[in-house]
Amino acid sequence: MLLANATLPDGNRADIAIADGRIASITAPGLPNADPDRRDLGGALLLPAFIDGHIHLDKTHMGAPLVPHVPGGSVRERIAAERVARHGVPLPVEARAANLLRRLLANGTTRVRSHVDIDNDVKLANLEALLAVRAAWKRLVDIEIVAFPQSGVVSESGAADLLDAALAAGADLIGGLDPDGFDHDVSGQLDIVFALAEKHGKAVDIHLHDGGETGGAELRDIAARTQALGLQGRVVVSHAFALGDLSPESFGKTAQALARAGVAIMTSSPAAVPVPPVKTLRSHGVTIFAASDNIRDCWSPFGNGDMLDRAAIVAARQEFYSNDDLRLALDLATVEPAKALGIAGYGLAPGAPADLVAIDTPSIEEAVINRPPRKLVIRDGEVVAENGALAAGVAA
Ligand SMILES: [Zn+2]
Repeated sequence: MLLANATLPDGNRADIAIADGRIASITAPGLPNADPDRRDLGGALLLPAFIDGHIHLDKTHMGAPLVPHVPGGSVRERIAAERVARHGVPLPVEARAANLLRRLLANGTTRVRSHVDIDNDVKLANLEALLAVRAAWKRLVDIEIVAFPQSGVVSESGAADLLDAALAAGADLIGGLDPDGFDHDVSGQLDIVFALAEKHGKAVDIHLHDGGETGGAELRDIAARTQALGLQGRVVVSHAFALGDLSPESFGKTAQALARAGVAIMTSSPAAVPVPPVKTLRSHGVTIFAASDNIRDCWSPFGNGDMLDRAAIVAARQEFYSNDDLRLALDLATVEPAKALGIAGYGLAPGAPADLVAIDTPSIEEAVINRPPRKLVIRDGEVVAENGALAAGVAA
């Protein structure tokens, strides 16, 4: 396949040849080329496909009627509401997850990290559903699965054994949840989480909503454990609201610890809480990326599986207004999650996987501001979506 007249991220025009699922060459446009599968992009912006590094495929209600949101102030109240509501959704996990994956793919995302609830209520049922979904979607979307203790680790009896079984059954990472705010036992939870990571040789991705100095101390604890186990580059803390809420001295100490330990941060930028300051963290050498998190589920009715939208939400929240800022916003949905998730060879270069998205707009800045429909989505060298809709026969 030849993608002619693409606009590259640096603004230059190019022709991109694709062979065997990879980018074969990137050359100045107009060179003679007899490729029968030549597509003229007419100057559309071409990017490596988006990465959504934090979603919940088992929680989404996509495709089911709207489940009215049950208000609840604390994480514990929200979890209790969800444990009741999740049995009333009239579509199985597999169908809802597939509905969301279709949306993600049509919007140009070909790699996701999904957390999956593990507790005494669902046990490994949601994991088994997502393992089946992952196998069915292998050709279209790369799916990483985090065994997520949604009802706690220490305070949910038997959770540690279920998490152990989940990792043995095929989950790629071990999760965690507010060691202080939920389990009220920081060492207790982190001992179990990091011991399971070590036992199974798996990476770690912890939900941390705990704010202020408590959250800061937990972040430094996680960084220390990461270094002690040699897990640098394989640990993510999701949300880390505390980073938006620390004294300058404490922030500096915590950011340095995260950078030294290679612990990355995910932000989805919910409106009502402090959020990690993206540019300041980057200046300390911390990797930070954007992701959707909850999409049309018990936690939030919002979200649409569009990483350009998410980049814009984060940009607005961080007051990213300059051209450099808008380009950084796009990086939070592309190269930065690639770093955080350890995806080798990601990018627009000869030899890189031909997972690409073309957007009918002349620049990255305009893409983030206007979020136009995707002109073309290419997965493994094949067109899977066009003008915002999946190609015929794809993921039917
Ligand atoms: Zn989450």
